[in-house]
Amino acid sequence: MFFSGIELTSSIDFPGHLATVLFASGCNYRCEYCYNLDKIDTKAFSGEEILPRLLKRKKYITSVVISGGEPTIQPDLPLWLETLREHEFEIKLDTNGSNPQMIKELLKRKLLTYIAMDLKSPVQYYRSVTCCSSNQKALLQSIRLIKESEISHEFRTTVLPGFSAQTLLKTAWPAYGAARYALQPFYPFKKKYTHPSLKGPATVANVINSTVPELKEHFGEVLIRGQEALTAHA
Ligand code: SF4
Repeated sequence: MFFSGIELTSSIDFPGHLATVLFASGCNYRCEYCYNLDKIDTKAFSGEEILPRLLKRKKYITSVVISGGEPTIQPDLPLWLETLREHEFEIKLDTNGSNPQMIKELLKRKLLTYIAMDLKSPVQYYRSVTCCSSNQKALLQSIRLIKESEISHEFRTTVLPGFSAQTLLKTAWPAYGAARYALQPFYPFKKKYTHPSLKGPATVANVINSTVPELKEHFGEVLIRGQEALTAHA
């Protein structure tokens, strides 16, 4: 298992846990708004190389977030998680949901404490947002597996400037009934974007505020992360 980077201590990536975040190398998507795009394919270190460091800090940090990139495209992910489990780490996985077979395997082997899946847009528009081909059936299968799993989970959406309230509701719809849905306003970190959904009118704050009451009827909990970005869009 290879990683492109590490955040040694995070209090915000794993709800209720102080965690170390490992960014898995590689991704099968190429979202223009991705914060890691420039280093996504870097193989900075392996699981074997980082394990001693995690163990050294284990008296302070006993939780690990495997983020990305997209961790599920690396076939040895289950082996790496098994190693972490043997050392009694709590594990959160961040995934784009494109690999339901891997998610099924990880759930079956009880390797996860928490799983978070991105919902990037209504499934039929994934190709446009991710700039890559995407399998709608696989995405829906991952959503179902996670919703029906017995572990803590969340779905989350970065709300893009081109989204209408209808787009956001259609994005969330397949996950209705899940425990938690987190909305994160898109925050521009580059001067220029080419994708139409990133150049639309800046109505993110309105779209979030107008949809939250309806979303609350369909999820156990609805969170808005990065509130400061809402001010930037208001
Ligand atoms: S799926 Fe996530 S990691 Fe992959 S390109 Fe999109 S935002 Fe980046």
